Amino acid sequence: KNNTTDINVTTLASILEKNKHYHKEGTVADYIPELGKVDPTAISFAIVNSDGKLISVGDRNHKFTMQSVSKIIALMLAVMENGEETVFEKIGYYGTDRPFNHFANLETMGKPLNPMMNAGAILTTSMISGKEDEPFVKILEMIRYITNNPSITYSQAVYQSEKETGHRNRGMFYLMKNTGAITGSEDQLDNYFRQCSIELTAEDLAKIGYFFANECSRYDGDKKYKNNALAKLILSQMLVAGMYEFSGEYARTVGLPSKSGVGGGIVVSVPHGMGIGVFSPALDSHGNSLAGYHMILDLAKKYDLSIF
Ligand code: GLN
Repeated sequence: KNNTTDINVTTLASILEKNKHYHKEGTVADYIPELGKVDPTAISFAIVNSDGKLISVGDRNHKFTMQSVSKIIALMLAVMENGEETVFEKIGYYGTDRPFNHFANLETMGKPLNPMMNAGAILTTSMISGKEDEPFVKILEMIRYITNNPSITYSQAVYQSEKETGHRNRGMFYLMKNTGAITGSEDQLDNYFRQCSIELTAEDLAKIGYFFANECSRYDGDKKYKNNALAKLILSQMLVAGMYEFSGEYARTVGLPSKSGVGGGIVVSVPHGMGIGVFSPALDSHGNSLAGYHMILDLAKKYDLSIF
């Protein structure tokens, strides 16, 4: 393994420069109308090194919605409250060749394929206790804790846009109500829409990556939630399904537990090492940031970061 402590601003800046053109080959998600309005040229690249040091380049203060990256936090809270066994009685642990919004075997088995696809994430969020928006507030507070950034909040506009147009997600929600997997009201679906609308930066993502890479301890050394078993569970699910149907190819080329969102962010954990956060909103056909993927790939190759 190459020594990663020599990674500096220049290293990241040259990788960013090399790959920023990829935004021209991707497309910004517009199935959520509000997301279609983002600037496709914005790009940022951040790491929290194994010693907890934050390094970032590009539009480092640019905020974007975390979208599906929030699914790892919902999974974390669902497991903390209900235990691993209860969660995975209701949700599968499968990889998939289907897109993130696919119904998959929801109707035939009544069970989402995994917690990284929309159906599974809607279910994990519904397993977090509390009335009305309390489960969402727990997710938000956990993200604020992990990033040590109390200013993080969510975009009302994106939330409304998702709520108005999220008919597939609503369909999944009602199928799971039909099987009894979900028993609550549509507030629970609203919490999923809200968590997807949480806005943060690539730096925040790098801190989240660091947290799961290091047994749920924070980049500044705070160990309030330290839990090796939980971190391993999250990392394994990121590896198997974090990049949706691209996860297998991603494991072959990058080889690191990662989670993408259609807002253009990707969070990466190098187990017992650094956290990486990238952002560029133009996506490939699977819904993963194209320039983001290439920046991660270049860094992973240069420093031989693959876990394999
Ligand atoms: N909010 C998005 C949706 O539900 C999240 C999907 C994603 O980031 N892949 O469709």
